[in-house]
Amino acid sequence: MQVRELPNEFKKALPVLKTLEQNNYEAYFVGGSVRDIILENKINDVDIATSAFPKEVKSIFKSTVDIGIEHGTVLVLLNDSKYEVTTFRTESEYEDFRRPDFVTFVRSLEEDLKRRDFQMNALAMNNKGEIIDLFNGITDIKQKRICAVGKAEERFNEDALRMLRAIRFASQLDFDIENKTYTAILDNYELLQHISIERIYQEWCKLIQGLNPSKGIDLLISTNCYVACPGFKNNKDNLRKFSQKIKKGITEKQSWLLLAYLFNFSNKETKNWLKKWKCSNNLINTIAPCSDYLKIRLKRSLTKLELYELGLEKVILIESVLKYLNSSYDLEKVERNYNNLTIHKLTDLEVDGKILMQVLNKKPGKWLGDFLSLAKDNVLNKKWDNDKEFLLKEAKQYIKNLEEIK
Ligand code: ATP
Ligand code: MG
Repeated sequence: MQVRELPNEFKKALPVLKTLEQNNYEAYFVGGSVRDIILENKINDVDIATSAFPKEVKSIFKSTVDIGIEHGTVLVLLNDSKYEVTTFRTESEYEDFRRPDFVTFVRSLEEDLKRRDFQMNALAMNNKGEIIDLFNGITDIKQKRICAVGKAEERFNEDALRMLRAIRFASQLDFDIENKTYTAILDNYELLQHISIERIYQEWCKLIQGLNPSKGIDLLISTNCYVACPGFKNNKDNLRKFSQKIKKGITEKQSWLLLAYLFNFSNKETKNWLKKWKCSNNLINTIAPCSDYLKIRLKRSLTKLELYELGLEKVILIESVLKYLNSSYDLEKVERNYNNLTIHKLTDLEVDGKILMQVLNKKPGKWLGDFLSLAKDNVLNKKWDNDKEFLLKEAKQYIKNLEEIK
């Protein structure tokens, strides 16, 4: 097959291929980016494979970075762009059903393509736009089919993650998994227990953000692969509900919050669950506090104080998840309500600790936090004006009352 017009991402990278060839090495575009040309999809990253060994690649290009030299990958910096150039390799020694730590560099493109996961990904393209298709990859792409290279069973025993990759590609591209490949997943799903959560998480994110995420979730369930995902094992029925509710376009954060809701997790349970997934602290701190508030929001609007405590990102996230729960929602309205709050943070108050201590001539103590919190509540609820003189007067009264109680 001949690609008539190379997409710009490839045109820009042509000097890398040509330079390697001028030095008597073979070089090709490989993997997902070639698949994506045929699919006319947006090109993510252009991967290059070569017969040159890493040291040879480094000696040919002026500017390189070692990013994974033990796996044969050298980053080539050229004309303000970066390209991953990986030596043809085989992965002969597999241990514990995981990708090996060591690879063997080879000079043959065929050997390199043979170790790739699926036929649709085992494609190479030369600098003239000719596609080298040794494993029926083009037919698979046209028929929207995901089929392992060689014997599926063996390939999943080499690296169990490939089973999850098959499922995420089914969602990402809206393809179907070929029968033998599907059966091999069903027979070997238990091997996923050897795979690190970080790698599972990466595939999960791509699955959720695919063209047909419901298809991906249904496959996770029907192949039993879902049991490898933290928190899913005892939630098969809820996962089914999740699959029925989600649509293309759901974000990663929305999916976590929706799942936490369907699994009936409290804030604390959500936090512990996301920790098992090794999600970033930033993500955990965004999702976990929303669990309980989503339940509240399904019953009524959030109060001013709740909007303030949550902050705009969480308020919008909660509102946006309502659409997957067949509940009425209004993103613009909640954003407006949030923006119309009298204050958005404690420092928006017209008094601060320093001024209060000075005017009241008092040392810091519990009274200070308590008063600021009271001021926040009353200003939010528009019972008090956010005005310096007004607040200082209230503070004096507050201290007077405190002292009278004593
Ligand atoms: P995406 O569009 O998500 O980037 P991709 O096909 O480029 O999809 P990558 O994870 O970037 O997927 O991998 C690049 C290529 O490396 C794949 O197309 C495939 O040929 C090969 N590959 C990646 N992971 C594996 C694996 N676990 N086993 C075998 N081959 C793999
Ligand atoms: Mg890629």
